[in-house]
Amino acid sequence: MNENSQPSASRAAVIALGSNLGDTGATLQAAVRDLGATAGVTVERMSRIHETVAVSLDGPDPSRPRFANAVALISTTLEPLPLLHALQAIEQRHHRRRDVRWGDRTLDLDIVDIPGVRLQTAELTVPHVRAAERDFVLAPWAEIDPTATLSGTPIVELLARVRSEGQES
Ligand code: AMP
Repeated sequence: MNENSQPSASRAAVIALGSNLGDTGATLQAAVRDLGATAGVTVERMSRIHETVAVSLDGPDPSRPRFANAVALISTTLEPLPLLHALQAIEQRHHRRRDVRWGDRTLDLDIVDIPGVRLQTAELTVPHVRAAERDFVLAPWAEIDPTATLSGTPIVELLARVRSEGQES
């Protein structure tokens, strides 16, 4: 209920999950359970877990532990910022191991997209700035929602583009 005692409208959101430290598959399963247990959040669909090579600033980095990645489609009555904070609380719960190497983490949760919402603030940008370039986001997303678009472009098209560019380098 909002302040006018009206039921809050529910909207869709696309969440990316990633882990490359510890028992990565179990961490993603636990994170999606935590997501479903969050007030105002319903998990509608979850992709398979995809095993991917870590990506550093300079590109793919096989020297780092491989990632487990997945995407969840949720419906939520939370506004975007409270949703981000709920994701950060789940990350904190799973941050039992830290590592000095760039970007290695027990759990990373990102808001990939909230269809119909565009936001650019210091704390939150939606759609996520790098979603359109990330195979490890687009592939699991396309698996559970093949007709989805990101800023008007079909995600299967974005995925094909990312893959053809990857083959050139
Ligand atoms: P990282 O853990 O490296 O993915 O970065 C998290 C930081 O990105 C946090 O400080 C967030 O405030 C910020 N951020 C900006 N946009 C997003 C988004 N769409 N989803 C998750 N974090 C975001």
